[in-house]
Amino acid sequence: MIRPGEYIRDILQSAAGERHTARGWVKTRRDGKGVHFVQLNDGSVFRDLQIVLDHEVASRLGKAVLDLITTGACLEVTGVLVDSPGSGQSLELRAEEATVHGPAPAATYPLQKKGHTMEYLREIAHLRSRSNTFGAVFRIRNVVSYAIHRFFQERGFLYVHTPIITASDCEGAGALFGVTALDLQALPRTTEGAVDFSQDFFGKPAFLAVSGQLEAEIFALAFSNAYTFGPTFRAENSNTPRHLAEFWMIEPEMAFCDLAGDMAVAEEFLQFLLRDVLERCDEDLDFFEKRIDPTVRDTLRHVAETPFEHLTYTEAIALLEQADRDWEYPVVWGGDLQAEHERYLTEEAVQRPIIVTDYPREIKAFYMRMNDDGRTVRAMDVLVPRIGEIIGGSQREERADVLLSRLKDCGLPEEPYWWYRELREYGSVAHAGFGLGLERLIMYCTGMKNIRDVIPFPRTPGSADF
Ligand code: ATP
Ligand code: MN
Repeated sequence: MIRPGEYIRDILQSAAGERHTARGWVKTRRDGKGVHFVQLNDGSVFRDLQIVLDHEVASRLGKAVLDLITTGACLEVTGVLVDSPGSGQSLELRAEEATVHGPAPAATYPLQKKGHTMEYLREIAHLRSRSNTFGAVFRIRNVVSYAIHRFFQERGFLYVHTPIITASDCEGAGALFGVTALDLQALPRTTEGAVDFSQDFFGKPAFLAVSGQLEAEIFALAFSNAYTFGPTFRAENSNTPRHLAEFWMIEPEMAFCDLAGDMAVAEEFLQFLLRDVLERCDEDLDFFEKRIDPTVRDTLRHVAETPFEHLTYTEAIALLEQADRDWEYPVVWGGDLQAEHERYLTEEAVQRPIIVTDYPREIKAFYMRMNDDGRTVRAMDVLVPRIGEIIGGSQREERADVLLSRLKDCGLPEEPYWWYRELREYGSVAHAGFGLGLERLIMYCTGMKNIRDVIPFPRTPGSADF
């Protein structure tokens, strides 16, 4: 294996004159007069290490071996670092020995130097990680994932693994994948003819979780501050560039916390993550800025440095009504804010990140805390330029009687939520939390246009390969 100090990232930081062994996959090869230049990458950094094979080494290797050094081949080279006379890099490795571990025949290797569409690259997800674009995407995803844990761990939050199989539909919103061990060819039936789930594995219908929030609340009311960071599943058949059937979500939950505290954590969290990406992913961001979206770094800086504006939903609607625009979706108090409204608010009306609070209860989930006006709930959505909503959260209803009447209002059954309601009977306290979709955040950090290209192996309607 490659040890710290031996990654190409480290070799590129070393001094001329040092001997090093580099291992990786060939990006490209160029042949000059009696000399061969190979760009080698091991995924540790955006830049390739330039390998120089001079005439003496090349003839020692022989034509048969030399011919195997093509794009995609796995190569190990030992040599001495020298200052590079060429432009584009400061150091290069003068090869003394070279071994081709695994050739990649040029006639069939599916990943050539340029010109591939994102759609084509999705079809070769077993190889696309070796490309410049996906190398940069997955390094940023890695940095963000680590930063998420650092943020919460540094603040004393407990990391909780909430279940992936659940019997409760978090928001009653539908879009659930069923989980069953029944024989679909011979389903057991009740006398009324319905599927008899009492004979299924769990003795009742079960699903893949759409959120870990309800269970995270249990942990907040025992560990004070907790967070989940795991996969969630939605069977929504929306073939959009922003929806996956399987995606990762971060959901902190804080006891002794009201909506103001929730907003403060959300702002601090988002800014922490964006600052971390700006600091640690400079080369990868250069690439995204140059090749994918020229505004990406500026927006990240803007959001990382600007204090967020706070608006109530009612104030937001007033701003939209004053806007004098032809909205695709009408602006009415009581309606959901659409992306066009959200982007107008943050990009034009206020020109900074916004947290919108106190939404009409009809458009938000049953567990959000009812305000004294009886019409609005303590919800908050964080809106940022270029995409609109990036975080959704709320203070939770901690009063048992109000929660029960909200369940009824929303037409939800009481029984599956018995434990969620009982949490409010014993040691209840004000608490709040929010959810951030990891892939939406990575799209934001990279400027990538399709969510399928920021998760290693996307699951979408009709597609679950690799
Ligand atoms: P949208 O309106 O975009 O479908 P939502 O209102 O359904 O989002 P929530 O239920 O609040 O989203 O989920 C929390 C977060 O999870 C969202 O802010 C978003 O970042 C992310 N998210 C939701 N659905 C998906 C999905 N299908 N694929 C990827 N991320 C998602
Ligand atoms: Mn949705």
